[in-house]
Amino acid sequence: MSAAGCGDPRLGGHRPPLQTPTQPSTPVACPARDAYNEGVKKKSRARAALRKAAEARLPTRYGTFRIVGLENGRRQWLVALLKGNLRRAAAPLVRIHSQCLTGDVFCSERCDCRAQLELSLKAIARAGAGAVLYEPQEGRGIGLINKLRAYALQDRGWDTVEANRRLGFPADRRNYALAGAALRLLGLTRVRLLSNNPDKVAALERAGIEVVERVPCQPATRRGTRSYLRVKKAKLGHLLEV
Ligand SMILES: [Zn+2]
Repeated sequence: MSAAGCGDPRLGGHRPPLQTPTQPSTPVACPARDAYNEGVKKKSRARAALRKAAEARLPTRYGTFRIVGLENGRRQWLVALLKGNLRRAAAPLVRIHSQCLTGDVFCSERCDCRAQLELSLKAIARAGAGAVLYEPQEGRGIGLINKLRAYALQDRGWDTVEANRRLGFPADRRNYALAGAALRLLGLTRVRLLSNNPDKVAALERAGIEVVERVPCQPATRRGTRSYLRVKKAKLGHLLEV
């Protein structure tokens, strides 16, 4: 059989003859198929590769940062707010923040997201170097509309974990592979992580980032937020004092 006739119509070949029981069952060597598969793998890796798409200055009420937009060919993106000379800092403060429209933008008191973001920006500005990675993982990864559905269930008495599960989702659907790739791209392989979430520490370690210290990220919150924090502590294992 010729190399072009390996059976994959995408290669312009034709189906191979059916094997008879007397033929060996080892795969037929096919350079064209192997080259095609290697090409697919290369394209997949290129799509997965994260790159800087844009970078600009961003003055904020907490000081001036650089804002960097990162994206890959799979339509995944995140934003990094960078402060100071990160390559000179031994293990800069880093916050991986999951987008929360209701908290970050509308100042919701259902959660502590905005307060944690503000605390992080202040701490990084004070330290003179650090990074906030802002990732679109709304509602612990279930998306904005499903988060609002979960809120509706919480209004009827379910807690945040029960509500996600009643909607058919795990309690926390986030993953931090993209954040790990972003940190590596930015040259941040040793960090002090601003977080109360031990899963986040473990996930970054798995992504090849050394977390030399977990720095608690627990801002003062209003009474209405505390029941949510108690659930995060009891059911999600977050390291909180409530
Ligand atoms: Zn929130």
